[in-house]
Amino acid sequence: MNIAVINTGSSSIKFQLLNMKTNIALAHISIEKIGEENSIMNMETVQKQEKKIIPIKNHQEGLEEIVSFLAKNNILKDFSSLSAIGHRVVHGGDEFKSATIIDDEVVKKIEDLKPLAPLHNPAHLEGIKVTRRLAPNVMQVAVFDTSFHTSMPQEAYLYALNQDMYKNHKIRKYGFHGTSYAYVVKQASKVLKKKPEDLNIIALHLGNGSSACAIKNGKSFDTSMGFTPLEGLVMGTRSGDIDPAVVIYMQRELGLSVDEADTVLNKKSGLLGICGENDVRSIIEQDTKDSRLAIDIMTRRIRKYIGSYLALLGRVDAIVFSGGIGENSAYIREKILKDMPFGIELDNSLNRQNAIIISKNNSQTKIMIVKANEELEIATQCLEILNSKK
Ligand code: ADP
Repeated sequence: MNIAVINTGSSSIKFQLLNMKTNIALAHISIEKIGEENSIMNMETVQKQEKKIIPIKNHQEGLEEIVSFLAKNNILKDFSSLSAIGHRVVHGGDEFKSATIIDDEVVKKIEDLKPLAPLHNPAHLEGIKVTRRLAPNVMQVAVFDTSFHTSMPQEAYLYALNQDMYKNHKIRKYGFHGTSYAYVVKQASKVLKKKPEDLNIIALHLGNGSSACAIKNGKSFDTSMGFTPLEGLVMGTRSGDIDPAVVIYMQRELGLSVDEADTVLNKKSGLLGICGENDVRSIIEQDTKDSRLAIDIMTRRIRKYIGSYLALLGRVDAIVFSGGIGENSAYIREKILKDMPFGIELDNSLNRQNAIIISKNNSQTKIMIVKANEELEIATQCLEILNSKK
């Protein structure tokens, strides 16, 4: 049984074909620069790797190129032979509490959520529309980054604003990286041999975009990203938490336009703003005064979130690291957890080996690494829907 997972951006497609018997990816295909003369198509299968640069006009052409590559390599005849297609959708508002089979009404609802995710949802919809045309008889499922967080209590998701802002304008904390956290819960449950509903976890998804999540009884109880993915931790190019009055000051006193302020906070801040580089591996290698400062600001913020989530959760079974930085950087993990109180004891040797469990035997809270696999989680959620229909 094969399931495809599709993540469309405004000028990109990320595609994975998964065999759900083995949970192995049969093909990873990415297309960038759609709409340009030099679109880049990277294809990787179990047997080979290929790259080509061709003009790909739009998402329809991109998806047709993907089908033709899979057919030529005898991996998949066409999309109609798939058991399901899962689409990553960034924003499901407070409407979509779980993965949802796509029909016209769901398309309309995702469309209505465009103002909340103006860069992402329109691009996802484009992918959904094309794929529905290419494979009209295959079940298509939308899996939302926000769904996992719909379990947060009101006191976690409401900002201390006039309630009209929420009731009439939908301004609240939504949280993102939900698919990654859903996967973390399942993996932690397997490794720790505890049911998801018995697990309290502080999960840290640390990549270009980073967030933290307090997971209580297997469900999101609080998270660091907010109305948009800008809130919370210090990220590659995003500031994370700042006093909102800074934004007003930048506009009123420094004369920045709304769009300029948006660019500053989302694209020119975070690690890049502090030290001129956003890639953590390069920042660690640079080892300059500014690069050390950037890492110090980033890790201190993460530590603060861990402390606040410990206070919220009380008992914490595990602190889980995922994402490019969380999975790979022993140095960052050590910096975050060094001399942590509350019986949280990192084993430096296991940490440097990137082992699955990296805490000492006597640590009251386990420390773990889970390799993020959002595509497998999306495909698994599609499979769960297929099984529930049997
Ligand atoms: P995205 O959020 O775009 O999916 P990733 O999860 O791939 O990003 O994370 C990218 C980040 O992970 C980059 O900052 C990169 O430098 C960092 N990273 C990857 N490997 C290492 C490593 N060995 N040490 C430190 N940072 C790493």
